[in-house]
Amino acid sequence: MTPVEGAEVLEIETAIIGGGISGLACARQLSDAGKSFVLISDTLGGRIHYSDDGLYFGAVVMTKDYTNICRYATKAKSMWPWTGYVWNGQKAVNSMFLLDYRRLWHFARVMKKFRESIIRLRAEADHTCQKTLLQRDPYLQKLVEQTAEEFVCEHGLEAVNERMLNPTVNAITFCPYEKMNAFNYCIALLASGNSACFADFTQTVPRLISGYEQNIHRQKVISLQEIDDGRSYQVQTDDRTYQANNVVISTPVRNTIQFYDKLPSQVLNRTAHVIHVRGKRRAIYNPGKSLLFKPGNDVFVFFAQTGDLDIVYCPTPEPDLERYYQNYEVLDRISWKTGIQLSIDKWRPLQINHNLYAIGDYNICGIEDSFLTGLFAANKIIGST
Ligand SMILES: Cc1cc2nc3c(=O)[nH]c(=O)nc-3n(C[C@H](O)[C@H](O)[C@H](O)COP(=O)(O)OP(=O)(O)OC[C@H]3O[C@@H](n4cnc5c(N)ncnc54)[C@H](O)[C@@H]3O)c2cc1C
Repeated sequence: MTPVEGAEVLEIETAIIGGGISGLACARQLSDAGKSFVLISDTLGGRIHYSDDGLYFGAVVMTKDYTNICRYATKAKSMWPWTGYVWNGQKAVNSMFLLDYRRLWHFARVMKKFRESIIRLRAEADHTCQKTLLQRDPYLQKLVEQTAEEFVCEHGLEAVNERMLNPTVNAITFCPYEKMNAFNYCIALLASGNSACFADFTQTVPRLISGYEQNIHRQKVISLQEIDDGRSYQVQTDDRTYQANNVVISTPVRNTIQFYDKLPSQVLNRTAHVIHVRGKRRAIYNPGKSLLFKPGNDVFVFFAQTGDLDIVYCPTPEPDLERYYQNYEVLDRISWKTGIQLSIDKWRPLQINHNLYAIGDYNICGIEDSFLTGLFAANKIIGST
């Protein structure tokens, strides 16, 4: 594709494509280091998204291990295990009754070991690619190679998985455990573990872009091309063409392939729909409480808010809300074509070559790990210039 006729051609050191948490983290770091860059994105925040009246549509849970994102977010509400319910097919059961206390001690030890490994990995992930760190840790590598089903059998978790863990993992990743590996399974459970809370990310984007607003170009990238044998890149939007020495792609695979087809696209993409519903839930569906469902249902989870309001995550755009509510009104809705992107065992180097990066959830999915990939790309660029 040749530059758009009459369009400006701007030379820039770095072009970041995509203004979700990973692109914003990269931009923040480059800005703090005084580097020249442009952040090109049609939206800011990506899957951290709020309605005008401050209700979340995307990511909402963080844990105390999310040390980077915590600096740009505040805790909104604790997530106590006894406030959650799971639909067992006939009724809503408090999650505390679903735990198999005989297995719990063993499972807690497994999760402790997993958490320690993840904390170690994250401590280095701002300077070393997640894939390299994974390869250095035989324990994590084994979990990537093991299916979640094998993991559940190995640890005797069949019953508690069926009753509670699989619905939890499904509500977080929009994916039943049968399709994922043990790593995806454990990291989803870690994200909903005892240190998790509901977060308020409403100030995250303003805080992350503060001081470099003028470097943001609110457009979609329509083409990315190598020039000078890969020594630089041409990045094109509808109104401008940039010539950049470094390019950071921080868009989900589904979006990336629309402007650049040279990255492998073998990831598991899960869609999700989020609906804001005001109404009176039928008594059996536990009005006023958060309620998880098993995979295969037309709703993943109801997150109860104050005043007859639910935020509903579902696999389908049109769940049968009549079934759950005596009366209701849909206030707002959003569809995420890429809700969650799971790499399964296709982890890849975030640095494609010396000046091209593909960050975001190409390795580990979730806001803290996506943030770290942004720092990684920025630190490489800072170190090379
Ligand atoms: C409903 C939902 C709930 C979630 N809950 C949690 C949670 O509680 N905790 C957690 O850790 N994670 C959660 N996640 C996952 C988390 O939100 C993502 O892993 C993370 O936000 C991904 O950030 P990103 O920057 O990689 O990508 P994105 O947030 O997808 O950002 C990509 C950006 O690129 C832009 N873009 C796309 N195409 C183009 C183009 N052609 N040109 C320019 N810009 C483009 C988009 O507009 C967007 O701004 C949730 C996700 C969803 C959908």
